[in-house]
Amino acid sequence: GGDGGAGGSVILEAAEQLYTLLDLRYNRHHFAPNGGKGSSALKTGKDGADIVLRVPPGTVARDTETGELIGEVVEPGDRLVLAQGGRGGKGNAFFKTSTNQAPDYAQPGEPAEEREVTLELKLLADVGLVGFPNAGKSTLVASLSAAKPKIADYPFTTLEPALGVVRVGDYASFVMADIPGIIEGASEGRGLGLRFLKHIERNAVLLYVLPVTSESVSDELATLQREMAQFNSELLDKKAAVVLSKIDTLDADARAEQVAEMKKSLPGGLPAFAISAVTGEGLGALVEALWRMIQQGRAEA
Ligand code: GDP
Ligand code: MG
Repeated sequence: GGDGGAGGSVILEAAEQLYTLLDLRYNRHHFAPNGGKGSSALKTGKDGADIVLRVPPGTVARDTETGELIGEVVEPGDRLVLAQGGRGGKGNAFFKTSTNQAPDYAQPGEPAEEREVTLELKLLADVGLVGFPNAGKSTLVASLSAAKPKIADYPFTTLEPALGVVRVGDYASFVMADIPGIIEGASEGRGLGLRFLKHIERNAVLLYVLPVTSESVSDELATLQREMAQFNSELLDKKAAVVLSKIDTLDADARAEQVAEMKKSLPGGLPAFAISAVTGEGLGALVEALWRMIQQGRAEA
């Protein structure tokens, strides 16, 4: 008879406008069909159809058993083979020779690859907010964002990073992530937020959010940076800026002076922006500056 068909493969594909892995959570097992049998008259069996799993860009696949990285799909359209379909067997006709016109053996097809894969959604954020609880991070994301894509099934399920899409003019946008749990105590999973930070874009900008109601914004910044450095000193190499938040709480008369004073107390080289998420003051300038930093980062990458 003829040769057998190859088995189907299971393939991961990044699809635009997908933001979660939720679909896969409720449909966990995926089998690509076997290849068809070869048959008489030298007919080759049909190849099994591939199965394509559509996932959000930024999905990382690991072998569950070994933890080994299989790969990731970054741009829409990127594909990654998770499990290869077996090669089809050779029918006996393949082994025909001048002296043996009807061999009574055939090569069996390869067995299908079976593999348990863990999918993680990398947080693709351009700006990551860093600050103590109550600094005003969530309020800032909410006041800047046009849309809030829901993220689910990422590795640290007790922490919901809120992602906001921030519009810049009519055509551009960037993603801002409010990442809780960076400084919070052990019960909230201290350190998880930091671990999460490693997953944000390589060129992401860290935005330290310091409320002007704080005793000392410079001390607060120093504490945040110390925590970050303790976890991974490379985090301090990222582009960074400071937001002085809640400026509406300062007396209107003394505000300009107080803000200038606070800015002066911060380490040099860190751009600082005074904002109020409540009145909207300073938000336009902040967005423009962040956008410039993001573009710079992308150009250098
Ligand atoms: P997070 O813990 O850093 O996410 O802080 P939140 O965004 O939840 O804000 C903590 C508190 O500060 C809330 O009660 C907010 O209403 C308040 N808040 C946030 N931004 C501002 C602001 O710009 N002005 C004032 N007056 N209050 C703010
Ligand atoms: Mg919050």
